[in-house]
Amino acid sequence: MQEIRQSSKLQYVRYDVRGPVMEEAQRMEEAGQRILKLNIGNPAPFGFDAPDSILMDIIRHLPQAQGYSDSKGIYSARTAVSQYYESRGIMDISVNDVFIGNGVSEMISMVLQALVDNGDEILIPAPDYPLWTGATTLAGGTAVHYLCDENNDWNPDLEDIESKISPRTKAIVLINPNNPTGAVYSRATLEGFVDVARRHNLVLMADEIYEKVLYDGARHINAAALSDDVLTLTFSGLSKAYRVAGFRSGWVAVSGPKHRARNFLEGLTLLANMRMCANVPAQHAIQTALGGYQSINDLVLPGGRLREQRDVAYRMLNEIPGVSVNQAKGALYLFPRLDPEVYNIQDDENFALQLLKEQRILVSHGRAFNWVNPDHFRLVTLPSVEVLTEAVGRIGEFLDDVREK
Ligand code: PLP
Repeated sequence: MQEIRQSSKLQYVRYDVRGPVMEEAQRMEEAGQRILKLNIGNPAPFGFDAPDSILMDIIRHLPQAQGYSDSKGIYSARTAVSQYYESRGIMDISVNDVFIGNGVSEMISMVLQALVDNGDEILIPAPDYPLWTGATTLAGGTAVHYLCDENNDWNPDLEDIESKISPRTKAIVLINPNNPTGAVYSRATLEGFVDVARRHNLVLMADEIYEKVLYDGARHINAAALSDDVLTLTFSGLSKAYRVAGFRSGWVAVSGPKHRARNFLEGLTLLANMRMCANVPAQHAIQTALGGYQSINDLVLPGGRLREQRDVAYRMLNEIPGVSVNQAKGALYLFPRLDPEVYNIQDDENFALQLLKEQRILVSHGRAFNWVNPDHFRLVTLPSVEVLTEAVGRIGEFLDDVREK
């Protein structure tokens, strides 16, 4: 009998952060081995519980959350998102400009499906959060990667962006604070993005899911606050700052010249309608999350767990010969570099696999983030100081062996 095969649409779609290395880790765990997992930015399993107010909100509203909601989301949640952005200086996001989804992930895919024609190009950072590349490819588009410069605090290279614009370019994606690099962009950098989008009539897509996960006094500026003449789609949600990734709650908010985007927005509404609505119980938490006490601050300020863990991992990684890493100003990750003159890694996925097999440490290889060379890996800074100390210590031992070979 003929084999049942996946659709050809998936031929070039990749999502290697959950690829063979993670599958091997699962097999090893099933065989009884203890794996230190530093691969997924999922706060709750690391003891970062959600604020009680959010859990109570969901529990109390559960009886009223049994039916479908409006396909864009419940009114109180969309009002809260609209008012939140108003407080951040974005005055033109009304209740009707907010689409609530099952996490930012769903809205990234939905927006790209609504916007991208076969052969359209989307400018995406390298390194990136790989859903952007995968979802662009699935929508029939081409992900064109622009470089972020490690020697310049992982800031985007605006000249590289400019040089990669073609008549098929439709949108430019920025991730700020950045996963995987931890960069937080200055006003001048963001104005650079806005300027490019304005001059080339591109949609600006700002993935700001880590906007409240900031260290060392870093300030986050919403890209949408910097113009009213560039169509800007701002993505954020509850997974990170409010630690409820499993509830699947995020949104996209539209600002700028919406009158020029009516047809696209109709398309987006059509797709939102087709999937009925996002998970309703989690929508009830959005108002409380955005309006209530921002408990993430207790974790990222001096003495806070997230900051302490980041500092320990940063220090220990930089102490390993041939390893260097920029300090993260935001988000939950470090993206260390393995000096090619010391390690000369040809296949970074295999590097991650060997690290897993020999030291039972699970990290993500840099090329899973569409980084250009096999010389980086990403780890999450969510594990406790004890676990991170053990894990980075064992990464050091592994690299000692590699150097000696
Ligand atoms: N965008 C970035 C940059 C992320 O790192 C993530 C998750 O790690 C997401 C989007 C998706 O988040 P969610 O679907 O949980 O809202």
